[in-house]
Amino acid sequence: MRDPEKVMFGQAFPYMGLSPDVEGGRRLMAIMTVLRGVPEDAYDRLCGLFTDKYIWFIPAYDELGRVHPFHATNDGEVVEIGDRQVMMMPSVPVVYLSPLLEQRAISIVTAVVAHELAHVFLRHSLTFIQPDMDDYNRQEDEAWELGLTWGFEEQIKRYRLYRGRFRGEEG
Ligand SMILES: [Zn+2]
Repeated sequence: MRDPEKVMFGQAFPYMGLSPDVEGGRRLMAIMTVLRGVPEDAYDRLCGLFTDKYIWFIPAYDELGRVHPFHATNDGEVVEIGDRQVMMMPSVPVVYLSPLLEQRAISIVTAVVAHELAHVFLRHSLTFIQPDMDDYNRQEDEAWELGLTWGFEEQIKRYRLYRGRFRGEEG
């Protein structure tokens, strides 16, 4: 397990300005658990990606609205979606963690954080328009699979039991 101080002041940990309820929030606890537990290569890569490519977005539970300046880190580009060409605007990949997670068991929150960080690690495609469902499902499977190899089997198992009771809002 990585030293918590190292994680707290490392590049992959959320910038405090975006996450006002640092004191004891479950999402931050889960991020700490995942970042302490991932293998060294994953930790280094995530630190690199959160330095200038990705941003956490962890709104406080009681914050009802906000306008926030997210900085674009990717140039706009033309992407092929099926047989169409679509212009993507400059963007920044934002990792969103719902305030609803504050009311979930910490194992569920940890599974979600590991899963989203696996998407980041794998640099999964972020187009809003999915070229096809197979591609979407493949990315989902890959992210869960990586979370398992990172050592979060127990949390992901619990997540799946929990998820079995509510269908259809996987992130
Ligand atoms: Zn996902």
